[in-house]
Amino acid sequence: MNTPKRYTITTALPYTNGPIHIGHLAGVYVPADIYVRYLRLTGNDVVFIGGSDEHGVPITIKAKNEGVTPQDIVDKYHAIIKKSFVDFGITYDNYSRTSAPIHHETASEFFKTLDAKGEFIEETSEQLYDAAANQFLADRFVIGTCPKCGNEESYGDQCENCGTSHNATDLINPKSAITGNVPTLKQTKHWYLPLDKHEDFLREWILEGHKKDWKPNVYGQCKSWIDDGLRPRAVTRDLDWGIPVPAEGGEGKVLYVWFDAPIGYISSTKEWAAREGKDWEPYWKDKDTKLVHFIGKDNIVFHCIIFPAMLKAEGSYILPENVPANEFLNLEGNKLSTSKNWAVWLPEYLEDFPGQQDVLRYVLTANAPETKDNDFTWKDFQARNNNELVAIFGNFINRVVVLTNKYYEGAVPTPSAFEQVDEETLATVKAYPDVIASSIERYRFREASQELMNLARLGNKYLADAEPWKVIKVDAERTKTIMYVALQIASALATLSEPFLPFTSTKLKNILNHTALGTETTWKEVAIKEVLLPAGHKIGEAELLFSKVEDETIQKQLDKLEASKKANEAANKVVEPQKDTINFDDFTKLDMRVGTIIEAEKMPKAKKLLVLKVDTGIDVRTIVSGIAESFTPEEVVGKRVTVLVNLAPRALRGVESEGMILMTESEDGKLVFVNPDTDNVANGLTIS
Ligand SMILES: [Zn+2]
Repeated sequence: MNTPKRYTITTALPYTNGPIHIGHLAGVYVPADIYVRYLRLTGNDVVFIGGSDEHGVPITIKAKNEGVTPQDIVDKYHAIIKKSFVDFGITYDNYSRTSAPIHHETASEFFKTLDAKGEFIEETSEQLYDAAANQFLADRFVIGTCPKCGNEESYGDQCENCGTSHNATDLINPKSAITGNVPTLKQTKHWYLPLDKHEDFLREWILEGHKKDWKPNVYGQCKSWIDDGLRPRAVTRDLDWGIPVPAEGGEGKVLYVWFDAPIGYISSTKEWAAREGKDWEPYWKDKDTKLVHFIGKDNIVFHCIIFPAMLKAEGSYILPENVPANEFLNLEGNKLSTSKNWAVWLPEYLEDFPGQQDVLRYVLTANAPETKDNDFTWKDFQARNNNELVAIFGNFINRVVVLTNKYYEGAVPTPSAFEQVDEETLATVKAYPDVIASSIERYRFREASQELMNLARLGNKYLADAEPWKVIKVDAERTKTIMYVALQIASALATLSEPFLPFTSTKLKNILNHTALGTETTWKEVAIKEVLLPAGHKIGEAELLFSKVEDETIQKQLDKLEASKKANEAANKVVEPQKDTINFDDFTKLDMRVGTIIEAEKMPKAKKLLVLKVDTGIDVRTIVSGIAESFTPEEVVGKRVTVLVNLAPRALRGVESEGMILMTESEDGKLVFVNPDTDNVANGLTIS
């Protein structure tokens, strides 16, 4: 497209059944915010749209489990999610929610338009039905085996293992998620969007039209979808939570969450326009508007196939210019998981790292899963913070500000003649706006963040090579020139860091007293202005931009994850199945007594065995027990224990063992005595 007149930028609507974590931030929200901040800095007309996705089955399941209403669930998480976005500097022009009346109205109208144009097929078919719950089983109410990859825990609408989207009736061995029952088939009517009818358009628009500018991962997924052949998709569900189907026969049915959610971008734009006294329509209907959807890879089909087919069918809307979907971020080598609590939650991060939003923004960008799944590790977080933000960016700024205050009482000095290195350095600085912009405009945010760091590196190296702290002793004029050049680099960094490190950028602009410049420097001015900070301009005192992250801090985070892992293992530990039934006579054959260990020593040359002398009340006998890896001899002397006394004696390494001490095992694999934990039971008492 030609130079766009305006931009409409949307981000995937977070689903309101939990808070958001670093994976969401890295995959969608930080890149979108970098893009939008850059567009604003370059003087573009842009609206940045977001909102909470509050319909669909998982919310109703969560509400049921917690004994509250779906509205309670979405109210709670909408507030938490919205706050996280504000906290991390995601600068939405509007953040709405799909339970808002304006959205119900917009989605309803959209459906009615398509219905009136005959864009739907109405079809009565057999759907899975849970008779015990008196309910049709849509989407996540069904669990079964994925027909494509064999994952036994696939949901009715989508397999999380292979990403395939399917119908609940496609699942092998379906089970109701509500009752666990095997569902039956029952007839119900639904509205379908015939995607097959749009196949030619999609093929031409994506496979021909966006071969070069869409990311290979996005293009590849679309191609495989289209090549597989598109089928009609139901856009309604038998459910009572959502937007009622506005058509005859729609009673008891709602719009499929994936039909209504993307329309949320439009309703959120309408909400913004009404508040700001603007016209929303050019942002969605003018051919000169560039529409970009930021999403994660699990949403590609909905944003590249289904929503565009809906927009095309409606007829008056533009289509997205690009959908720069990211791959997934893993955490310490494992898939991020809400249910397993394997995540870094944003509210928790801020408690542990107050005021350090930019560090997370930076690390997630520098390591963004743009072309493949990537791993977030706390060690990398620490290294990026200490070696890049602190040692390069922070160190450079601190030196410049401290020295300017020390030598010139905070006033930018008047330079004398530039040497070649000064000229070259200033020319390089001027090239950075274009270099960084080129990466941003191609959605290469990792690359862009590294170019920004390269600019800080340039400043750091310039200062380290020029050594003004030495030159000041011999050449006052030369020192002025060096500090003048360094101050120009610092000012360029203040402007160009804004999309990536917005909190730091604000702090730095304050330190450099940018407000005294009259108007804030724009992106382009960094490239063309001869002087960013003029001689005589007064800057403020030094203030630390970043602080070192210590090993203990990182260890605490690793310990937290370790605790999650342990809890998961405990929850997933397979309980051994019950053994065959025995009769009472079998049980009474076992003679178990209360006993006390009175002596213990290690069995020579055996790692696991202790030789014990046990007072069984009947006698004192020798028992060889395999507990040496869990206990030292000293630890067990005096222990009250349960002894099986009529076990046939057997020789272990030449020592005859006359009985067995009953043990169990704790979660971490340590043996535990099954002991009579009361003092007034005497040795020899039987256990029955
Ligand atoms: Zn699968």
